[in-house]
Formats: sequence, structure tokens, C-alpha cells
Amino acid sequence: MNNNNKLPSIDALLLVWYDAGNRKMPWRESRNPYHIWVSEIMLQQTRVETVIPYYQRFIEALPDIASLAAVDEQSLFKLWEGLGYYRRVQNMQKAAQAMMREHGGKLPNSFEELLALPGIGLYSAGAIASIAYGARVSAVDGNVLRVVSRLLAQDWDIGRESTKKTVRGMIEAILPQTRAGDFNQALMELGATVCVPADKPKCALCPLASLCAAYELGTAHLLPAAAEKKARAVEHKTVFLLFCQGRAAIELRTEQGVLKGLWQFPNTDGTLTAQESKAALEELYSIKTDNANIAGVGKAKHIFTHKEWHMTVYKIELRADKAADAVKTLIWATADELAQNYPIPSAFKYALSIVKEQLSLLP
Ligand code: SF4
Repeated sequence: MNNNNKLPSIDALLLVWYDAGNRKMPWRESRNPYHIWVSEIMLQQTRVETVIPYYQRFIEALPDIASLAAVDEQSLFKLWEGLGYYRRVQNMQKAAQAMMREHGGKLPNSFEELLALPGIGLYSAGAIASIAYGARVSAVDGNVLRVVSRLLAQDWDIGRESTKKTVRGMIEAILPQTRAGDFNQALMELGATVCVPADKPKCALCPLASLCAAYELGTAHLLPAAAEKKARAVEHKTVFLLFCQGRAAIELRTEQGVLKGLWQFPNTDGTLTAQESKAALEELYSIKTDNANIAGVGKAKHIFTHKEWHMTVYKIELRADKAADAVKTLIWATADELAQNYPIPSAFKYALSIVKEQLSLLP
């Protein structure tokens, strides 16, 4: 391990590189703190290309903090549908409501006040304060941790809070007097496009190669050491796509958890056979399937942060009288209603694609 604990002065080289051709992103055209906040939260766990259309739609529908604070939860979830990690947007709304109450409807401009808001951690507070307000604070994400590890040829564990704290201190020691936001964005951009993960860093294109210890040692591809990944728990589910007269059944998720408040297709735990599914439908949803055909329509997997769902999916067309007997918590929605009114989490993406296809075949 290299014991170097001080970053070289990289600001001049980095900013020249950044000015010469950073990627165009709609939020970079704006200095509006609200826009920057929305983009930073969307970009957590999600790629830039995916975020852009969501960001544009979100800003158009909810152009300011007041509108975000006031919007109903279902409309908010619908705007977020497909981005996943819905807690992000729930926290954004709580933060917007706190800003209406305590900050005159504005995003606070100090790092500490930002940090005190729901859903804004050290990284987000640093990014917003530096980009929107020019504050000289760091914004250390996974990209920055990788670049710094390589610049210093450090094989530390970047998952540890102590490493992150050290890196934040190192960055703050070399932040330029002006353009701290651009500096932070440039470092993240370098990590996202040049100093990329695993064995693929594009050192030949890197503006910092002359200052980089790992490049000199030829160890860039080995750094930072991959953190040991915990195996995710696997949960098996059986999903029922119930159709009746051009409508499909959905239900509101009411149990506590990340997907609470979103809509789902009826389902149950375990991998059930067609016969077992009939019994489960009767027990859970009061639906007697009798002679209805229950057809397997495939399997799907969804990966959450700490667990995976392995889903077996069945399709069942019901007679109107059987659907009418079903529990009243089921809503029977048309294709248009599904598209416009009911946010369905990406965990059900495959099931939703089957439902859309099925409903589109109707006359
Ligand atoms: Fe990363 Fe290579 Fe640049 Fe060093 S020279 S910062 S390893 S891309």
C-alpha cells in the first residue's frame, strides 16, 4: 500500500478537461437549486441516460418545491414509476414539506441545513451545496472514491465509513476557491467516463495520468479492491394475472416496506403449481376459478438491494360472475387506467408487459 495521504493538485488539469467536453445533461443547464436537488436524488442508483426523461417529466409536472410538497402520493409515485427505490421520492416530498414550513419554500443553502433534511445524506448535501451555491464542500460518491484510490494507489476498503471520511477530507483540502461544484462534477464525470470500474480504466485518455500513482505502478485495474458482496436473500413468489372483460386485477400494497402505496398484481409467497394457484386464489382473493384455464406465462427475476424476487407468473381469464365475487380490495383496471392512474413498481415489469400485451389484443 502506498502511504501517500495527500492528493496532488488536480484542479487545473481536471477543470480544463471538464470544460473541453462534459456530457450534456438538462440539469447542468440550470443553476436552480430545486432542479439540482431533483437530479441528484434521481441519479442515486440510476444511470444518467435513464434519468434524463424522468427528470424532464418530473420538472414539468412539479416545477417547484411548493408543487412537490402538495402533490398526492399516487401522482408522485406515477412520476417515479420505473425508477425504483421509491423511498427516495417519499423522502423528497417530506423534505419539500419541511422546506415549506421552515425555509420559506426554498432549498436551504448551507451544507448543514441540507443534511438535516430527509433523504439528503453527506454526498447529496455536498453535491447540492457545491453545485447550486458554490459552497466549498466535497461530494464523494463511488466514482470519486475510485478515482482517489487510484490517484494514490490505495487499496483501502472504500465501503468503510472511515475511508469515505478520509477521502472527503482530502478533497476538501484541494477544492479550488471558486468552481467547487464544477470540480466535484468533473471528478464524478472522470470516474463515470474515463476512470471506470474494474479492469477498464482508460488511462490513455485521462487528464490526470501524469499525477496518478496507480497508473505509474500499473495497478489501476486492481483498484479499489472489490468489496466482499453479501449474498442477497432469495424470495419466491407466484404472481396471478387475472383478466376479466378487458380489465386486469391490481391491488394496493399496504404492508410496511419500500413498495407500500404502490400497486401490484395479486401474488403470494412461494412457487406454486397451477393447481396450487387455484387454491391460493380462492383462499386469498375469494376467487373460484372452476374450469378457468390457468396458464403459465413465464418466470421473472427482480433484484432489490438486499434481496431478489424469483417470480412464477400465471395468466387466468375469469368469467364476470367469478370476478364479481372477488375480494373488494382488487381493482379491475383497463390498459389506459393502468398507464395513467396506478404506479406499479419495476419488480412487476415483466408481469406488466404481459398484461399490456394481453389487453392490447382485445377488440
Ligand atoms: Fe484513473 Fe488511469 Fe486516470 Fe489514474 S490515470 S485517474 S487510473 S484513468
